[in-house]
Amino acid sequence: MKCRHCGAKVTQTFCDLASSPPSNAYLTTDTRDAAEQWVPLRTFVCGECFLVQTQDFHASSELFSSDYPYFSATSSSWLRHCEDYVAMISERLALTSTSLVVEIASNDGYLLQFVRARHIPCLGIEPTLSTAEAARAKGIEVVTEFFGLALANELREQGKSADLIIGNNVLAHVPDINDFLSGVGRLLKDDGVATFEFPHLLKLIEFKQFDTIYHEHYSYLSLLAANNLAKHAGLEIFDVDQLTTHGGSLRLYIQKKATGKRPISPNVAAVQTSESNAQLNDMKIYRDFQDRIYKIKYDLLTFLIEQRRQGKKVIAYGAAAKGNTLLNFAGVREDLISFVVDRSPGKINRYMPGSKIAIVSEDRIRAEKPDYIVILPWNIADEIEKQLKYVRQWNAKLVRAVPELCIW
Ligand SMILES: [Zn+2]
Repeated sequence: MKCRHCGAKVTQTFCDLASSPPSNAYLTTDTRDAAEQWVPLRTFVCGECFLVQTQDFHASSELFSSDYPYFSATSSSWLRHCEDYVAMISERLALTSTSLVVEIASNDGYLLQFVRARHIPCLGIEPTLSTAEAARAKGIEVVTEFFGLALANELREQGKSADLIIGNNVLAHVPDINDFLSGVGRLLKDDGVATFEFPHLLKLIEFKQFDTIYHEHYSYLSLLAANNLAKHAGLEIFDVDQLTTHGGSLRLYIQKKATGKRPISPNVAAVQTSESNAQLNDMKIYRDFQDRIYKIKYDLLTFLIEQRRQGKKVIAYGAAAKGNTLLNFAGVREDLISFVVDRSPGKINRYMPGSKIAIVSEDRIRAEKPDYIVILPWNIADEIEKQLKYVRQWNAKLVRAVPELCIW
């Protein structure tokens, strides 16, 4: 296969998770017993530009373009993160009522609501109709299309240009990342800024976060790879923040190379140094990853089988996409984890894709008093632990599988 970015031949596997259904293809009572489409889930690394990327499936576009049911953002820590970001960036860029903020993949307006509250004009771009509707209900203007150079040109023709373009956890979702970044360059004002947040590949490797890999994520980025991508699109990374979200993310600050006037922050060199210390520019670290994640699978299965033998009840919390990657890679079914609890009304009474484990509401925890609760979205484990304080009344223990099996 050819690299999504530089076109070089890509042969080195980074992580092979066998195959699974798309991680957001939750089943209903009606579809539960129907055949599911299992698709290989394998990532490669390009030896030329070091972009980690999924295997390309021409047949998959149809599979992943369906309008999945809308799930509102329920994590309060994530909303707080977004509110803080908006406060910081509107001050840093001195945004006013004459500026324009564009968010790509604006979802239900979870972030732009904070921009709007500051009376700064904003525009959301969100191809999923049901989700865009939720944003419009908050009074946010939304374009329901995929973003790329074509849409950027269209918006330019309408006289729109952006002081700030925001993309949170969107770069990974873009199949044609070169076209996407060309669109960013086209839509930005000469002195405009784009910020992109994404889980840092360095953390994925260090903390074995293989469960953040799923079909809908086409690429996994280091600063090293992002630099190559930006340069190719005539852009320049002038600052970077290291964040704790999603197990360790980067927030890149990007300007147009030709017209941007902001000096390059020493933060950029600092992250570059940490990546070269970790040898992200050496293929060995990518080659060695698979063996490290097999250990997670074996430890989790050993634990679950042991509890089953002892007659203990084990359930899981959080029907997140990363939970599906973990459960399907490890081959866990409802004999080992009885059900998954989630707070999102859109997920309750559905089934996890692949494992077909039932998703139920939280009152089932009080009713059934499980011995162990496996927290699937480990990135918000602290928040979930607080929510689940009451399970200590019957001495239940919490469990996480990544980066290594931990029971407390
Ligand atoms: Zn490449």
